[in-house]
Amino acid sequence: MTEFELIARLTEGAPREAADLPCGVGDDCAVVAGPHGRDWLVTVDAFAEGIHFMREWANFRSIGRKALAAAASDVAAMGGLPRFYLATIGLGPGDEEGAAGEIYSGMREAAHENGLVLVGGDTFRSPSGITMSLTVVGEAGHGEAILRSGAKAGDGVFVTGSLGGAAVGLASLRSGKRGGACGKFVERHLEPRPRVAEGRAIARSRLATAMIDSSDGLVADLCHIAEASSLGFEIEAGLVPFDPDLSAAAVELGIDFNDAVLAGGEDYELIFTVAGKSLPAFERTAKEIGAVRIGTMVGERERREVRGAGGEPLAVGPGGFDHFGRKGGS
Ligand code: ADP
Ligand code: MG
Repeated sequence: MTEFELIARLTEGAPREAADLPCGVGDDCAVVAGPHGRDWLVTVDAFAEGIHFMREWANFRSIGRKALAAAASDVAAMGGLPRFYLATIGLGPGDEEGAAGEIYSGMREAAHENGLVLVGGDTFRSPSGITMSLTVVGEAGHGEAILRSGAKAGDGVFVTGSLGGAAVGLASLRSGKRGGACGKFVERHLEPRPRVAEGRAIARSRLATAMIDSSDGLVADLCHIAEASSLGFEIEAGLVPFDPDLSAAAVELGIDFNDAVLAGGEDYELIFTVAGKSLPAFERTAKEIGAVRIGTMVGERERREVRGAGGEPLAVGPGGFDHFGRKGGS
């Protein structure tokens, strides 16, 4: 059973609708209608040692920093403004309180940078390893939050920043090669920056039809927009932006460049769609936030096409990028 099949099974039968709930389970955040023409955006993310982080690879400060940044990214993914957070932490059997203190100092950094105020949490002793759960509450104007489900056939697909860096950083950490071209990608993996300002600019333009953050990998996350919007897509691998040092680092690490860029997770860039007729009006915002167009949404739901540099189609499976039948991903 995939993670998404499990979520569908778990959430089945639960009360999931309310008059003041414009968007419940299934998007980056739930959207709850608030007073004074504002909506609340609510999200929770878990971070467990050995799954989401390894203490051998990162200090506790950067672990805390990344956890809150990743949680805040779900608010950015809807074009919202992060406001409040609650932090739950379970310390492992051998962990001193100092470890939690350092994790919280990293969270404080991310909180200051993203305008977040700590409003609560919970503390417990975990039987194995450090476990965290971070709830972030954001805010947006009523009806302003950009859902995954709003894309239409013919919309342009855009991404911010550059893709694949975090996956290369993870590969560096795994291989122990952290110097040279790999260094900055390690930092990209360990200390991501949620695209809050970019998300706000996209929301303010009122021209985006759907949006998500790239946490699972570009193609997998675009599949989430496609599924929620009942569409397919065509993108060109050659248009996907990447850091100029990425290919040298990929060669050094012996990893597949396309896998990193198309399927590598945790870049926390924004992937979004803009209606064909709005493209000229969106140009200025795209330039301002460094977003580029990489493809188009199409009406055929089963069409999930990634074209390679020579125009050849690369196969994509339902779980994400799967070139020539081999499962990609980091
Ligand atoms: P993201 O990667 O953006 O944090 P996820 O892929 O974790 O989102 O989750 C997809 C959707 O499913 C979200 O709306 C999330 O709130 C919901 N979800 C995930 N796990 C559960 C769960 N155990 N119970 C209820 N809803 C869940
Ligand atoms: Mg998300």
